[in-house]
Amino acid sequence: MECEVKEGFELARLTTFKIGGKCDNLFIPKSADELIALLEQDSSMLIIGSGSDLLISSKGVKGNVVTTRNLKNVKVDGCKITAECGTPGPFLAQLAAKESLSGFEFFVAFPGSIGGNLYMNASAHGQFTSDCFVSARVFDREDKVVKTIYKSEMNFAYKQSLLQCGRYVLIDADFELKKASPEKIKELMDRNLSRRKQMQPSLANPNAGCVFKNPPNDSAGRLLDKVGFKGYDDGKVRVWDTHANFIINKGEASSIDVLELMLKMYNKVKEIYDIELAPEVIFVGEKSKREEEICKILYQKSQK
Ligand SMILES: Cc1cc2nc3c(=O)[nH]c(=O)nc-3n(C[C@H](O)[C@H](O)[C@H](O)COP(=O)(O)OP(=O)(O)OC[C@H]3O[C@@H](n4cnc5c(N)ncnc54)[C@H](O)[C@@H]3O)c2cc1C
Repeated sequence: MECEVKEGFELARLTTFKIGGKCDNLFIPKSADELIALLEQDSSMLIIGSGSDLLISSKGVKGNVVTTRNLKNVKVDGCKITAECGTPGPFLAQLAAKESLSGFEFFVAFPGSIGGNLYMNASAHGQFTSDCFVSARVFDREDKVVKTIYKSEMNFAYKQSLLQCGRYVLIDADFELKKASPEKIKELMDRNLSRRKQMQPSLANPNAGCVFKNPPNDSAGRLLDKVGFKGYDDGKVRVWDTHANFIINKGEASSIDVLELMLKMYNKVKEIYDIELAPEVIFVGEKSKREEEICKILYQKSQK
């Protein structure tokens, strides 16, 4: 099976931050079978879904990368939806609404793919990706086989799932939704969208969503607002005017510009509130010496 491959691909083109250097080879499978065949050959490949939670190093990524952007087959069977890993959340939200199925209304407002959404257990407006999840087909990088994993094995929690252990690549997932009236579903989706528009930047302002996770019983955005980061300008990057947990690439930013600003935000909240914010955005790729230093501080807890 011949998979499309691009040598020396600039990964900034695959991230919503519009930041990221080159990889050795970018593979672009057209089917789940092609993805599985690729992983059988090189199980260590970095997987990119919609690239909306990734800060990819401007120094690039050593090795092979695979994008799941063409893996978007979806099947609907009664209340059950099966979606391939690259399916964009907003598409699924619209499809579920058309079928009068409730559970995906929150997907309408952010760009994550099903693979990324399950990896992060993405959530918004009180709904979580895990809520309707039943099971998934995954490629096991250790045993090099395709397995089925059920909800009870997924270790779901806030911004957490089994996929974060790095062993499994999600191929496709089954969800069980609930029948609801189309009016109710539409009303919820409209409300979610309008809240977004008021508070958050669109992708015309390159960003990767919230840069920090919420600490227990608090909001990272609230804390960052209190310490003065709303609208903070830091040269090539800046903080969004109405939500202090969003960093915008003004156009020319590199990964180090984002990390330096994240460190300032982290240090200020630590100094004033004695709270150590944990990054939500995932840094991948080769690091400069300074990036190594900053990542050690910012990602210290996630690495333990
Ligand atoms: C404007 C904006 C608003 C946002 N709002 C929200 C929000 O309200 N709530 C929220 O939770 N998030 C939000 N996000 C963040 C982001 O969209 C989510 O974290 C989303 O789940 C990431 O999905 P992705 O496909 O972009 O993942 P990527 O960024 O491509 O990847 C994230 C991680 O998932 C892994 N991954 C991707 N696909 C697979 C796969 N098939 N198998 C195994 N691992 C995989 C990657 O290797 C990487 O480690 C927002 C982002 C933006 C830009």
